[in-house]
Amino acid sequence: MSDDNNQASAARRQRVQRLKKCIILMFLLAVTVPFVLCIILLVRVNGMNRTLDSLTSQIEKLSDMVQKQQEQMDDLAAETVVTGHGLSASGEAGREAEKQTAETISDKAGEQGKAEEEPEVIAGHKVYLTFDDGPSAYTDDILDILDSYNIKATFFVVGKETDSAKEALQDIVARGHTLGMHSYSHKYSEIYRSPEDFSEDFAKLQDYLYEVTGVKSGIYRFPGGSSNTVSKLDMCVFADYLEEQGVRFFDWNISSGDGGKELLSVETLVENCTADIEKYETSVILLHDSTAKRTTVEALPIIIENILAMEDTVILPIADDTEPVQHIH
Ligand code: ZN
Repeated sequence: MSDDNNQASAARRQRVQRLKKCIILMFLLAVTVPFVLCIILLVRVNGMNRTLDSLTSQIEKLSDMVQKQQEQMDDLAAETVVTGHGLSASGEAGREAEKQTAETISDKAGEQGKAEEEPEVIAGHKVYLTFDDGPSAYTDDILDILDSYNIKATFFVVGKETDSAKEALQDIVARGHTLGMHSYSHKYSEIYRSPEDFSEDFAKLQDYLYEVTGVKSGIYRFPGGSSNTVSKLDMCVFADYLEEQGVRFFDWNISSGDGGKELLSVETLVENCTADIEKYETSVILLHDSTAKRTTVEALPIIIENILAMEDTVILPIADDTEPVQHIH
């Protein structure tokens, strides 16, 4: 009996043990399987995330490429438009340049025609406005004033080689005024030192003006005038040299007085320029185109208006047949 009991209890214990093992196993499985599944899922999610990331970056790259291509196409389109415009603009510029060149040439032809012969003017008094020492910062203003009254004048210029001076020289010619020479250096001590020095300075200016404007000037004004007391040599030596060159020199019979050190008032300049005009058939008025001579520019419109208001009086540019006013000879 006790053996039976023992066997029964042993079998029970075994069952309990198995049951326990089963429960533990079930428990372990219940814990482990979700854990493992979780890990697997995590790994897979992770992998998918990475795939997603790489896909996203690929999409971004692709969209970048598309955008760049779009920009390139826009640039190309823009360039095509610009080139089209550029072509038409340069065509227009070319035509404009041709037109301007033609105008300049015809202007020059007109200028040369004007310089060769004075227009037939029947007037008791001929007035020639002459500006020495330019170009200067005021040349453009003087040209504008002359233009506004439709008047031509004469500029006796010196050898200034800045870009603005070159432009001013070209403007003087293009706007129909007469270009005269006033020595390259304007240094009395150098140009009047010897006939060689004078001729060298003369040729330098004449060549320079021809190079810049295409005009070979045929008129000259001596620095200080032909009656200057600075030259140690007889001024006739230099006057003869000019004659040999086929160049005529012009002095003046009316001085504005603006050549001195003091800046004259507008009233004084107007009075100096206009008071004696009625005395002469030909008045050559000396003025200065100089940065230091502001009042000359201010007085110019009044001088012109006063002269234009005079009876039987005209204002002209010096031409090849203009009777020169000379202090010597
Ligand atoms: Zn001078």
